[in-house]
Amino acid sequence: MALNKSKPIEPQGRGLKEEDIEQHNVLTVSYRPMAKYAWATGVAISRFLEGLKAGEVLGTKCTQCGRIAVPPRVFCEWCFKRSGTWIRLPDTGTVNTFSVSYIATDTTRLKTPTIPAVIQIDSAGNAGFLHIIGEAKPEEVKIGMHVKAVWVEPEKRKGSITDIKYFKPIE
Ligand SMILES: [Zn+2]
Repeated sequence: MALNKSKPIEPQGRGLKEEDIEQHNVLTVSYRPMAKYAWATGVAISRFLEGLKAGEVLGTKCTQCGRIAVPPRVFCEWCFKRSGTWIRLPDTGTVNTFSVSYIATDTTRLKTPTIPAVIQIDSAGNAGFLHIIGEAKPEEVKIGMHVKAVWVEPEKRKGSITDIKYFKPIE
């Protein structure tokens, strides 16, 4: 058969529709992936999590520039040196920034909002971490507000950031 250059090639077949898949009009394979994840926390975060389990907030202090990191780091990013000293920090801090969220982690709407906030830990310079504010109404939360950790009971702690239930306002 001679190729007719003046006539465009018409594609054969048709596009798939959702019902083709649902009604098995096309070959499909169904499976449930057995995806399991493990994450190595590393030297610094492992010790930080062990500290939380013991009711302590641990950080590292760079022996060269004095920068405090909490959560701790093995290396100081400021001077590219190994962070030398482990220090125990207070479980109090200041609200650096916060948000009022009416959306749960599963995207459903919450009647009572959560208040995620970055807590700048006292004595740690500008270092801190993300947690949530409790025992306060959204309109009461302010940047610069002083807060204290409310811990999970010792026997129920798991070595997780959730060993701190939330941070509550203090005077
Ligand atoms: Zn440093």
